[in-house]
Amino acid sequence: MAPAVALFLLGSLLLFSVLVNAADLYKALDLDRSASEKDIRAAYKRLSRKYHPDKNKDPGAEEKFVEIAHAYEVLSDDTKKQIYDRYGEEGLKAHEGGQNPHANPFDIFQNFFGHGGHPGQQVRRGPTSVSEMEVNLADMYTGGSIEFMVQKRILCDHCRGTGAASSNDIHTCSSCSGQGVKIVRQQIFPGMFSQAQVTCQECGGRGKVIKKLCPHCKGHKTVSHTQQYTLEIPKGMPEGQEVVYEGEADENPDWEAGDIVLRVKSKKETGGWRRKESGLYWKETIGVDEALLGFERNLTHLDGHIVNLKRSGVTQPGFVQVIEDEGMPYYGESRYGNLYVEYNVVLPQALSPTIKRKLAEAFHGHDGHGVKDEL
Ligand SMILES: [Zn+2]
Ligand SMILES: [Zn+2]
Repeated sequence: MAPAVALFLLGSLLLFSVLVNAADLYKALDLDRSASEKDIRAAYKRLSRKYHPDKNKDPGAEEKFVEIAHAYEVLSDDTKKQIYDRYGEEGLKAHEGGQNPHANPFDIFQNFFGHGGHPGQQVRRGPTSVSEMEVNLADMYTGGSIEFMVQKRILCDHCRGTGAASSNDIHTCSSCSGQGVKIVRQQIFPGMFSQAQVTCQECGGRGKVIKKLCPHCKGHKTVSHTQQYTLEIPKGMPEGQEVVYEGEADENPDWEAGDIVLRVKSKKETGGWRRKESGLYWKETIGVDEALLGFERNLTHLDGHIVNLKRSGVTQPGFVQVIEDEGMPYYGESRYGNLYVEYNVVLPQALSPTIKRKLAEAFHGHDGHGVKDEL
């Protein structure tokens, strides 16, 4: 009886491991099974850069990089993807004759980004776009995320950035035989020549000419595109913190796209909250009666919670009350800074005769007629 149970368990474990494997390649790219070809490319583009061992020195980054490359290798290949979707990793092994040789993940990376694969070769990077982003201070207080749109140039989908209607429309430039440059021989004196290398005018130095332009991008190779991004605002995010969206700036066939950099700041609202690092500043206006006799008020904080402002004695104009733990959150910590409430005292525009008399009594001990006489 017992061996049968064990066998059954083993069977279900095997089945389970196959299922887990089947989900893994998609999971490696943060995708689900409905991912399109475009999603797969985008995920590989984003993750392979993030985990490239040249950049990411975290333990486990290299392993992750290899995993991502393998997932991309399979999922970007129609045949392999179909086999994988149906039969999982085991199916792929069977397809490749019992082995499952993985391509070199660095080759995959270099092919994808088109660096030619020469180690040490300088990669041309496109311009990095730096912009300032103003967010509500309340979002920096509570943490949150905002969506924003970026208009940029992306490689034309139709011609894949060649600018030609089809690959048959790209021809080697006949003027420079594909060299991109021409040697011009000039006679400076009789019998004396100079040779100069000049960029070929016909092809603009590319060595290729396009006979028929891509109808989609009209030969520009890139098209305008509006993309939505999410900015995650952590609690207590420092002012001016830069958030980098790697490789998300303008695309171009001649370079690797630069980064979009957002410098995040809080909006300056007139008369509102001010922030200085973990300190929060608020100006509260009180009447002269409150300044003299004390008061109790409710201040609504950035997230809507109520801070009780209470003073029992005299409050001088410009006095700053320090309230602990009601300031901004410390970035990456669970404690809060201080709240500084500065009191602004306003005097009444005019006094009624009764108030005037009573004040005079209070301050000078008589009914106020004397005050007038003294003046
Ligand atoms: Zn040419
Ligand atoms: Zn095009």
